[in-house]
Amino acid sequence: MPKQVDFLVVGSGIAGLTFANKAAKYGDVLVLTKKRKADSSTNYAQGGIAAVFGEDDAPEYHIRDTIKAGEGLCHEKAVQTMVREGPALVEELHSMGCRFSMNSRGHFDLGQEGGHSRRRIVHAKDFTGQEIERVLLEETKKAGVSISENEIALDLVVQDRECQGIYYLDADTRQIDLIHASATVLATGGAGQVYNHTTNPPIATGDGIAMAYRAGAKVANMEFVQFHPTAVYSIKIDGRSFLVSEAVRGEGGVLKTKNGVTFMKKYHQSGNLAPRDIVARACLEEMHRTRSKYVLLDVSHLQADFIKNRFPTIYETCLSWGLDITREPIPVVPAAHYLCGGIYVNEWAESSIPRLFALGECSCTGVHGANRLASNSLLEALVFAKRAAKRVESVKALHASRPIKTKKTAVVGPNLLFQIKEIMDQYVGLIRSEKGLQSAKRMVDNFRCQFDDGIHIINAESRNVTVVAQLIIESALERKESRGLHFMTDYPKKKKMHCKDTIKEPVLRDAL
Ligand SMILES: Cc1cc2nc3c(=O)[nH]c(=O)nc-3n(C[C@H](O)[C@H](O)[C@H](O)COP(=O)(O)OP(=O)(O)OC[C@H]3O[C@@H](n4cnc5c(N)ncnc54)[C@H](O)[C@@H]3O)c2cc1C
Repeated sequence: MPKQVDFLVVGSGIAGLTFANKAAKYGDVLVLTKKRKADSSTNYAQGGIAAVFGEDDAPEYHIRDTIKAGEGLCHEKAVQTMVREGPALVEELHSMGCRFSMNSRGHFDLGQEGGHSRRRIVHAKDFTGQEIERVLLEETKKAGVSISENEIALDLVVQDRECQGIYYLDADTRQIDLIHASATVLATGGAGQVYNHTTNPPIATGDGIAMAYRAGAKVANMEFVQFHPTAVYSIKIDGRSFLVSEAVRGEGGVLKTKNGVTFMKKYHQSGNLAPRDIVARACLEEMHRTRSKYVLLDVSHLQADFIKNRFPTIYETCLSWGLDITREPIPVVPAAHYLCGGIYVNEWAESSIPRLFALGECSCTGVHGANRLASNSLLEALVFAKRAAKRVESVKALHASRPIKTKKTAVVGPNLLFQIKEIMDQYVGLIRSEKGLQSAKRMVDNFRCQFDDGIHIINAESRNVTVVAQLIIESALERKESRGLHFMTDYPKKKKMHCKDTIKEPVLRDAL
């Protein structure tokens, strides 16, 4: 492993790989990833990427839909950038060999999802993310990017107020080491694993956000956790609940109570295609009302051949559990799915710490505001990764040459994952209260004290999840209103005074 690189990337999902492939033009790039290369949320994305290609569509409509979903908190400039720069990058993926589904006229077969006023979801059947990950990994070979698996980034090295690189643990040798970089890029994905019920894979423990916050970076809008309304009830694969894409409702899937009664029209004029937060809360309410542990998602009225061809992964996965979705409804529940908040960055993906960039789900670009519009996250990751790659060309000239003065010691931290998840599920879910959040805060604050400032060679993820949980709870307590994904029973309405980002910045005791 080199001791020094130009560009050090943490994470091998869509954000990290897109950046790496583009930045390879300007210098040497090393990607560290904590498990295998393809272990990422990207690999599980089903629905697709939202981008303006339809004949009846225009950037203005996509911008309007995104801003509407974000309930007053979207940064309009960031949205404009994403929507206008996105389609070229989707075309680029296609030209790299990404097998997107096409219609009979040779154009992208555009899907429909909730909150979008037009068909604009470019997809590869229901395994879009897997296809993107495959193509991007192939590109890394062509671009000469090195990827090192089983390397867990532990902490950032910040000296003289600049990011100089990272400490990481080689999971095979159990050695901690340090890599020096001109630019460090966090692309570590989301944090769904702070909850028990999540569609996110086990890597999603918010490591990048916790690392950046510990190092002094600004973190924003952590209270906005998106719960997907339709994860399959009671079955988990490798620590994640299996998602049934929103595209299923886009193609005619209908939500029903366990007694077979449709209910979404009661909650929103767009019915089954209402924004995700509304659908998720409606499902929860119907579950309470009917005293059921799930609601049903029914596609059995659609043509069996259409279902098998359009949603092969969902069809076959459910069939492997004995559920034929062409004949029977799917029992579903809401599950934590996407984090709108993260490391606060500007339009070039630069964090508040010089030479530290953040991309993809671990970042907060301002694109999603209080609620992410479906399929905007892959697009955001592509666009801001491209922009960061442009930016680092100038950062390279600042190559760090000063020796790192301090080295941290490794200690064993407690494993608190189980306890944190229980607290988050119980008090910090879809519906929150001041009292519940205060209880959660007391408990998580107590856990936080159990970690000192050393690097935790064992249970690094437990330490990170504790920080992320604390950030979500504290941000939620600050937002004394209900807006987008954040719903408080004590404050059920939106308030003008809260129409701003919730920004958290740690008070550092000493430089790392
Ligand atoms: C089931 C599912 C379906 C989805 N469907 C869609 C969809 O249809 N459309 C859409 O737009 N979005 C979708 N999303 C959201 C979208 O997939 C993610 O937001 C996006 O893929 C995140 O990309 P990323 O590159 O930021 O992170 P990821 O793809 O999650 O990659 C994170 C990487 O960081 C690595 N990593 C993390 N911590 C460390 C560490 N400490 N050290 C080293 N490496 C580390 C991981 O191993 C991984 O390689 C879906 C998400 C899920 C879970």
